[in-house]
Amino acid sequence: MHDDIEEILLTEQQITAGIDAVAKQVTDAYRGVEFTVVSVLKGSCIFASDLIRRIPVPLELAFVSASSYGDGTTSGDLEMNFFPAEGEIRGKHLLLVDDILDTGKTLSRLKAELTKRGAAQVKSCVFLDKPARRAVEYNADFRAFEVDDLFVVGYGLDFAGRYRNLPFVGSLKKEAYAGVVDG
Ligand code: 5GP
Ligand code: MG
Repeated sequence: MHDDIEEILLTEQQITAGIDAVAKQVTDAYRGVEFTVVSVLKGSCIFASDLIRRIPVPLELAFVSASSYGDGTTSGDLEMNFFPAEGEIRGKHLLLVDDILDTGKTLSRLKAELTKRGAAQVKSCVFLDKPARRAVEYNADFRAFEVDDLFVVGYGLDFAGRYRNLPFVGSLKKEAYAGVVDG
């Protein structure tokens, strides 16, 4: 699996430092405000679990599942698979946590849906932000890293379901894409 990586863009040490910093920002922002971290499955599970363990103020944890159709390297139409129960949304301060903010479609649609379902506030915290790719107007309230317009895998981020378990973030070699396309 590591042989499929072209270049390591964020090492484990860099990731740790970035999460420490963003966790401090989130902690300061929510001091005295009860809130719920809403992890967007599947990609954010690793980031969310590392993030919340560095936030020493009371919080709850919930999950939503949203996925783009297809196995490619661009985000397609969004499918929202499941949401927290109504009681976990209505009147709550929610912090959506996602792996990467790319076109912005996923988080803007999730924010609209959670607001419609009665959330008092919906903010977001992303592990990676690719501002060059934005297609809708959406900015994260917190982000650990900004990255260039390049498809990345690892630390929760997949290609065709694989590579989420890499402890670092890297780009894929061309052969790794070709292997999937060619079956
Ligand atoms: P958005 O709706 O902001 O375009 O897309 C967010 C989703 O697209 C992410 O949660 C992720 O699943 C996928 N995505 C966007 N860019 C990348 C990338 O560079 N690598 C991987 N693995 N997924 C990406
Ligand atoms: Mg995702």
